Amino acid sequence: MTSEEIRALTQQYIMPTYGRFPVVIDRGEGARLYTPEGREYVDFTSGIGVNDLGYGYQPWIDAISAQAKKLGHISNLFYTEPSAKLAEILCKRSGMSDVFFANGGGEANEGLIKLARKYSFDRYGKGRATIISLKNSFHGRTITTLKATGQEVFHNYFFPFTEGFRYADANDMDSLNAVAGEDVCAVLVELVQGEGGVLPLDREYVHALSALCAARDWLLLVDEVQTGVGRTGTLFAFQQYGVTPDALTFAKGIAGGLPMSGILANEKCRDVLGPGMHATTFGANPVSAAAALVVQDTLNDEFLAEVVKKGAYLRESIEALGLPCFGATRGLGLMIGIAVNDGYSNKEIANRLIDNGLLVLTAGAGMRLLPPLVITKEEMDKGLAIMKRTLV
Ligand SMILES: *Cc1c(COP(=O)(O)O)cnc(C)c1O
Repeated sequence: MTSEEIRALTQQYIMPTYGRFPVVIDRGEGARLYTPEGREYVDFTSGIGVNDLGYGYQPWIDAISAQAKKLGHISNLFYTEPSAKLAEILCKRSGMSDVFFANGGGEANEGLIKLARKYSFDRYGKGRATIISLKNSFHGRTITTLKATGQEVFHNYFFPFTEGFRYADANDMDSLNAVAGEDVCAVLVELVQGEGGVLPLDREYVHALSALCAARDWLLLVDEVQTGVGRTGTLFAFQQYGVTPDALTFAKGIAGGLPMSGILANEKCRDVLGPGMHATTFGANPVSAAAALVVQDTLNDEFLAEVVKKGAYLRESIEALGLPCFGATRGLGLMIGIAVNDGYSNKEIANRLIDNGLLVLTAGAGMRLLPPLVITKEEMDKGLAIMKRTLV
């Protein structure tokens, strides 16, 4: 089919929930993508932080193919090897005790919220179910995770929302203390707010927050759906903040492009969710788990050190271009935000870059770059050249 035909069918038959760019993607190689007509794009998006191994990564293809031949799905009423191995690796590398596998970020956060409320119910009984989240956060699109999201624009149309959330300003312990109370059971944060604009939390704030949570037996919940799986240069972002969450969620990059997510919980939360308490039909899918094992195999210390270097190279190079529309860059590893100067629109900049062959994302009022973690120097330079040519 041609790009034109694919766009027409999509517009007729798929619900119009996405403001799509007018580009049809057919295939990819490394960090480059191609339309059905063969036009090339350099990818600084990875889906949205999903395709950490890029496109056409041979070990990933081989593992998926082999697992699909053996067993594509079986219910969680039975045991399978890929999910068992993956669980062990994730627990050992994160220092957590056990894992629950789900399919998407919002769904994992739903489970995380259930875990926090059940933990508190077991210890303290009813009336201690409130979760504090941060303003400008993003936690998902379900009725509950919309409410957990600390942005008023998400609290529309779908009433009634789940009760039991209050919001504090990021990096402000006074704001947090102002909404604290006897009814609180947990605090939920992204260590780098992704959708909100690539805004890293301050180290001192995260340490103060962690100490307060420990003192009041509030669970420290970290949403690593976007920051996790090597994106920031460590397997999880909490590992470079020097704090230990009670539970965290991961999703986007975990299986390199197949749907998978999960919750990792520490010893304190072990066995809070018992048989019949939580479940999902597709969770721990063996093909997704086999793909995730390749991701874990690839993301060794040497690879993660490269992610840090590539992130620094991209940020320095972008700032060195001195483009009139861009201010400073921020972020961690290959999760990069760029401030957009007054008088310029991030949406318009994204459209122009995409027109010229470079896929980028926006977040908040700025730009957001989430390139495949395997991106090469040549591919980064190609993307930078498009930026320069388009935006001088
Ligand atoms: C993307 C994202 C989600 C939602 O994940 P879905 O897979 O779209 O449900 C939740 N939290 C954060 C931090 C995210 O970046």
